[in-house]
Amino acid sequence: MITNSDLQFDRQHIWHPYTSFNEPLPVYPVVAAEGCELILNDGTRLIDGMSSWWAAIHGYNHPQLNQAATEQLAKMSHVMFGGITHEPAIRLSQKLVELTPAGLNRVFLADSGSVSIEVAIKMAVQYWFSRDRPNKNKMATIRGGYHGDTFAAMSVCDPVNGMHSLFKGSLREQLFAPVPDITPTQSWHAKHLASLAQLLEQHQHELAALILEPIVQGAGGMRFYHPEYLRGARQLCDQHNVLLIADEIATGFGRTGELFACNHANITPDIMCLGKALTGGYLTQAAVLCRDEVADTISQGPAGGAFMHGPTFMGNPLACAIACASIDLLLDSAWQQRVADIHVQLQAELKPAQQLPNVADVRCFGAIGVIEMKHSVNVAEAQRLCVQHDVWIRPFGKLIYVMPPFVIRPDQLSKITQTMCLLAASV
Ligand SMILES: *Cc1c(COP(=O)(O)O)cnc(C)c1O
Repeated sequence: MITNSDLQFDRQHIWHPYTSFNEPLPVYPVVAAEGCELILNDGTRLIDGMSSWWAAIHGYNHPQLNQAATEQLAKMSHVMFGGITHEPAIRLSQKLVELTPAGLNRVFLADSGSVSIEVAIKMAVQYWFSRDRPNKNKMATIRGGYHGDTFAAMSVCDPVNGMHSLFKGSLREQLFAPVPDITPTQSWHAKHLASLAQLLEQHQHELAALILEPIVQGAGGMRFYHPEYLRGARQLCDQHNVLLIADEIATGFGRTGELFACNHANITPDIMCLGKALTGGYLTQAAVLCRDEVADTISQGPAGGAFMHGPTFMGNPLACAIACASIDLLLDSAWQQRVADIHVQLQAELKPAQQLPNVADVRCFGAIGVIEMKHSVNVAEAQRLCVQHDVWIRPFGKLIYVMPPFVIRPDQLSKITQTMCLLAASV
């Protein structure tokens, strides 16, 4: 039971994401979650539109994932990965090598999405160092991106709305191409790649890698771009000797209608980051996959060829065992049909919001639905309204967006879209 004095303690002592202690946003006490519902302290059940930030694709408290966790718990929850290996890590890595685009054969298990971005950037830099090109150590990226909150990750987030402008002086200055100005449904023209082409050509001597979120830019603005742009970016990287890092932390495991967003363009990046839905939202765990050549080059380089990273909870067995179960559950389900159905329903039911005076744009891709407002949304007010309607949505900036669990029922999803439209009409 969470009492009022507990909530007071929370307010006075506990940081929540992106908040201040002076004017904290309200927090809602959740005591349990099951299926697609979060259960509040007072028994209210909220239909979840957020999948706990892209992660809980199977919903909550899933019997198969619970079973995997309990079985692994009875063996061991954690053991160091230095000098030790274990079945959960081996099984998970086998699955990841098999499922990800052909050529990504080496796996580094990291402990969170942001850390996996640090690992990917480090890999790219160490790769060029090992090839005796130490000056190739900068990153290129596209504006509108989000890659996490650690320092190297912050340096490649959108410099304006990336939430990190405060740290400008402490961050490595990276190179930014404009936001891709072509949506997946517009007709492709090569001119949309011109700025990126110019950037890579001019700076190839100092660039280790191009890092981007394939097709779907998430927390940096919820924008979707054309697969040809991604295919073109792959070609440009090859042409100019720049590695390509695909940040699939939000898009991985089916969210966009393909298992990985790179599949929309049929490309293999040199390095790929996975996180969020990797464990079905149960535990923090991420993975960095790379092509053989990247791993082999690093392994023939200085420092005895060692890749210089090794977090304490690397390859955590509990997280790996749950990730294996989550992947099996996904592949055994009709996930592609579910994502397609969610897409159709989101598109049909959000379309009316387009007519509202304060709405700038309505867009959907895969199992993601977005209403972009003309003005910033008051999060506290918006959430109060959503909770009144038994729905959990957390807007940010001008964006009212959802990415529900794949197992959401049509009637539950309708409740979410109705509330989104209501919100768009009233804020
Ligand atoms: C969430 C996210 C990250 C950061 O992952 P954390 O687990 O929160 O550190 C990085 N990149 C993308 C695209 C994300 O959506």
